[in-house]
Amino acid sequence: MFDTLKALPSDPILGLLTQYREDSHPNKVDLGVGVYKDPAGHTPILDCVKAAEKIRLDTETTKVYIGPTGSAPFNQLMAELAFGASHSALIANRVRTVSTPGGTGALRVAADFIARCNPNAVLWVSDPTWANHTGLFEAAGITVKTYPYYDYDTKSLKFEQMLATLNTIGKDDVVLLHACCHNPSGMDLTQEQWDEVVKVTVKQGFTPLIDMAYQGFGDGVDEDAYGVRQMAAAVESMILCSSCSKNFGLYRERIGACTIVAKDSATADIAQSVLLYVIRCIYSMPPAHGAAIVETILGTPALKQQWLEELTVMRDRINGNREMLVNQLIANGVERDFSFIARQKGMFSFLGVNPEQVATLKAQYSVYMVGSSRISIAGISEANVDYLAKSIAAVIK
Ligand code: PMP
Repeated sequence: MFDTLKALPSDPILGLLTQYREDSHPNKVDLGVGVYKDPAGHTPILDCVKAAEKIRLDTETTKVYIGPTGSAPFNQLMAELAFGASHSALIANRVRTVSTPGGTGALRVAADFIARCNPNAVLWVSDPTWANHTGLFEAAGITVKTYPYYDYDTKSLKFEQMLATLNTIGKDDVVLLHACCHNPSGMDLTQEQWDEVVKVTVKQGFTPLIDMAYQGFGDGVDEDAYGVRQMAAAVESMILCSSCSKNFGLYRERIGACTIVAKDSATADIAQSVLLYVIRCIYSMPPAHGAAIVETILGTPALKQQWLEELTVMRDRINGNREMLVNQLIANGVERDFSFIARQKGMFSFLGVNPEQVATLKAQYSVYMVGSSRISIAGISEANVDYLAKSIAAVIK
């Protein structure tokens, strides 16, 4: 049976991590994996998470099955976090949220849900997008196509071209948009551009699917949800996939949410029944622990405040790292304009060096990034930024 199998290539980012771990260079720099790190290079557990876990340990009374929708309080609080508690779609009771195993689980549920709505739907993703998007949707039998997004030459959005393509997409298709902190480019839509995209979405009638994996990592919890909120207020149908991996630092707990916004409450109920069926056929029920932590934090005012403060520390550090790298490149005599790094948002940017230069940075300087020159901003620190800037300066000379 297994003799017919052919080995598939391993994940390039995880391969890079293995090489980095085995590298004995004293100044090695890891700009590969997209997880938040503190200045010491550690991915900490948030204090609010530790506090919530203590509360759960004392108060949890059963480990019985949670059911396919997951935790009702978590679902409610996640919808309120995304849309704002007084959003018109929530008031109209046309929103249904389910807990999922991470943002990836949310996307996979969304993919099967879309296939049930329209097996011939085309999913349109930005060029480029998170590498896993294509595989996740193709796994549900959905055709994936791209719309123009990032201009590698000008380090900006191809906004006019993006709009031109969106203007050709019809009501049977789905368009995936990144809510904030676009992965991999760091290039987000401005509020005015979101308004334009919302207008085209309404005009064309396609279904928007918004992937929000970094709420609070860009400009703030509410600011980062601008597009999500405008879209949900304007369209009849929408899908939102959220992740608690980054903003709650709950990577390995695997917790996220898939939310359907339907045209009315009755349609939302029908959509939810389909979601439940889809979930039963993939993993039956989501894990409960991560949801318990998040609902304890979001449902306890003091813990929520603490979370917002800890989130601000992470956000400020990432934005600070962006500035720090740009300044250090200038301090090392680099004339090429890297200021775009400071203007972009979230965990990633493309450094904009070619594959040979990426290879040289790794081989000669032990600076690790993926071949596209996507850098994980959290891997920069006060301790390594000078070495990093000098290495980049030497390689692009
Ligand atoms: N969407 C995007 C754009 C992401 O970058 C990620 C995480 N890298 C995810 C979804 C999935 O996140 P999770 O770890 O919660 O599955």
